[in-house]
Amino acid sequence: MSIEITAVKCIGCGRCCSVCPGSLIRLGTGGKADIPHPERCWGCASCVKECPVQAIAMFLGKDMGGLGGRLTVRRENTLLHWTVTNPDGSAKTITVDSRDSNQY
Ligand code: SF4
Ligand code: SF4
Repeated sequence: MSIEITAVKCIGCGRCCSVCPGSLIRLGTGGKADIPHPERCWGCASCVKECPVQAIAMFLGKDMGGLGGRLTVRRENTLLHWTVTNPDGSAKTITVDSRDSNQY
């Protein structure tokens, strides 16, 4: 389980570094986010949700029941748009209103 960071998209805001509970992400060369030990990531998706430019994707391998797709999240006010892009380029998005979560 791991994330992938697309350096050309990263704007160096540092939000992912702040939210990672394992302090696994740092700002590296050129002020871009970097994860030196991706094997330590346990897939909480906090950084994926926090990135404002969708520079971080969760790799959905077999250990996640996936087929090699990528999960990204786009925020729109209280809405979170979760998109899975498959290796063949097809994609599916579900939208969740964060006001509806954690109500139990
Ligand atoms: S998915 Fe969670 S554990 Fe993995 S790098 Fe992102 S914030 Fe850290
Ligand atoms: S949250 Fe996104 S844009 Fe900000 S430093 Fe991390 S990867 Fe780069």
